[in-house]
Amino acid sequence: MPNQRSTPRFNPRGGDRRPQRPLGASARPSSPLWYGLAFLAVLGIAQMYFLTPAGRSIPYSEFKSLLKSGQVVEASIGDQQIRGTLKQDAGADGKQSRQFTTTRVEDPKLTEELDAKGVKYTGEVVNRWLPDVLGWIIPLLFLVGIWGFFFRRMSGAEGGVMSFARSRAKIYADDEVKVRFADVAGVDEAKDELKEIVEFLQNPKKYTNLGGRIPKGVLLVGPPGTGKTLLARAVAGEAHVPFFSLSGSEFVEMFVGVGAARIRDLFQQAEAKAPCIVFIDELDALGKVRVQSPLGSHEEREQTLNQLLAEMDGFDSRKGVIIMGATNRPEVLDPALLRPGRFDRQVLVDKPDVKGREEILRIHARDVKIAPDVDLKVVAARTAGFAGADLANLVNEAALLAARSDQTSVGMKDFESAIDRLIAGLEKKRVMSTKERKIVAYHESGHAIVATVLPGLDPVHKISIVQRGFGALGYTMQLPLEDRYLMTRGDLYGQLAVLLGGRTAEEIALGEISTGAQNDLQRATDIARAMVTEFGMSDALGAINYDGNKRPRFLDIPMPQERGLYGEETAQLIDAEIKRILTDAHDKARDILTTNRDKLEIVTRRLLEIEVMEGDELRTLLGVSKPSTTPAEDRIPLPPTSP
Ligand code: ADP
Ligand code: MG
Ligand code: ZN
Repeated sequence: MPNQRSTPRFNPRGGDRRPQRPLGASARPSSPLWYGLAFLAVLGIAQMYFLTPAGRSIPYSEFKSLLKSGQVVEASIGDQQIRGTLKQDAGADGKQSRQFTTTRVEDPKLTEELDAKGVKYTGEVVNRWLPDVLGWIIPLLFLVGIWGFFFRRMSGAEGGVMSFARSRAKIYADDEVKVRFADVAGVDEAKDELKEIVEFLQNPKKYTNLGGRIPKGVLLVGPPGTGKTLLARAVAGEAHVPFFSLSGSEFVEMFVGVGAARIRDLFQQAEAKAPCIVFIDELDALGKVRVQSPLGSHEEREQTLNQLLAEMDGFDSRKGVIIMGATNRPEVLDPALLRPGRFDRQVLVDKPDVKGREEILRIHARDVKIAPDVDLKVVAARTAGFAGADLANLVNEAALLAARSDQTSVGMKDFESAIDRLIAGLEKKRVMSTKERKIVAYHESGHAIVATVLPGLDPVHKISIVQRGFGALGYTMQLPLEDRYLMTRGDLYGQLAVLLGGRTAEEIALGEISTGAQNDLQRATDIARAMVTEFGMSDALGAINYDGNKRPRFLDIPMPQERGLYGEETAQLIDAEIKRILTDAHDKARDILTTNRDKLEIVTRRLLEIEVMEGDELRTLLGVSKPSTTPAEDRIPLPPTSP
């Protein structure tokens, strides 16, 4: 499944946002701006009125002929215009037309002509005062005013650009969250883990009086749309505490220093309102691994992240503030965020199985009129791979379809077409096809059966064919009964058989192999190689370590492939031994699965039906007894070898 980045600041689902009361600066009315614009309009009109010359505007030639015919009584000569008065009877329509203006033309003889006709004339010093004031001084003052207005908005009362952080008014405290755990379904394990947080928030004293360690940060991890945001809100709703939420992506486009200031601000406000929850959604947008960049282009995000780390460290969780985070890309998070005292608790919010999907559908169907023929169980069975948000969307889509065809309730037919439509849309998000699901079911059943039938292996805890966000199409989880410090050669052989069991089941049941076993093969090959070159478990090569201390055993970090010091011949021998070990394991897996061919069918069919199978049910299907919790043999823990 491709990693899809959540759209910053735009929530396409949007269903979980409620009207919230801003805590920071309240939104200011924009009216000053409107007053300003109105004023500008008045100014324009005034300017037109005052500066438009009075009277009729005539061409200079007409003025000259009027002058010649003795019609002009008075003239006032400015440097650009000549204004004047005509004789009473000159115009046709009375008083108005006695006034005239004309644009002045360079005419040195004008005064002589005026003298000759006996016209009273004056020179005019044009009064620049009014036009100047109207023309540019007032607009200039106005612009300065607007600039000042925005500047004040930006810098805020306490001064400094810092309170820009506040004025974005995005720090919300939702004092009364309406979401409850009952509104979230299909994520029971996550809910169970969060119940403890709720209890603590409801009664922090009870815990702190005993000196208990309270979790500081809880990170919700899971694919998009599985209800992480919803769960965080439900925790606040259940505990009846204020809910501060911020999204990591909101910080991305800010000026340097602003994000850090907002984090500081957020924690200050939260402290004042404790007990409460601070929720940072899309933590990955903010908490990506810090990198040394010569351009310093990530400075803002890093400052913000550093501030967050500092605040989390300096924060006394006994005050009753729980910091929650959510991400669908935990792999990109800066490891510093996951250290003890920060987001040290991680809660997996996975895609729902069939039962979970039915429950989620039920929740969302509450708001919709459903026809009696609708069986949500069937809908749930047909929507493998859908996350909670997809299911919410499905119910809505079905309701829209019903409305379009003027029905009074939403029928099964509407659900069917909505599913078809959504699956087509989800194709991009890689929802498994029926055929793929079958392959994955056989594959996982193969792992699980080999792990259960072979003696001495860790019992299977859970098998799942619910597609996970992080690439895996299914998984088989084994849980050890006790801590292991040593693995025998037999244990490792068994593990190899389990790893190859998936692929072997595909071969046996479908006569075809898929790419799904790539990771299994890689791990199996790694183990086989280590058996030969590090643990001296190959009889052909003997008790010898060929690869030196290349592997820091306690770090799960892939090391650069560095070959030990051995010749070509030994290399060939090593390869041959690895191959032999893997072939043995493959044969063993094939043996087990062929003898249990009918069981493979049964488990696969059941798995396709319920998608997630507990270990106990698997053992019942296979007719194997429950694993005992007492260790089969005594294992003496060895001191860890130095890496
Ligand atoms: P995420 O934060 O994991 O991406 P959201 O919490 O934003 O997912 O989920 C979006 C919407 O989808 C929710 O508001 C809710 O309506 C629906 N939804 C998602 N998961 C669930 C669930 N487990 N139970 C009920 N509704 C869900
Ligand atoms: Mg979310
Ligand atoms: Zn596998």
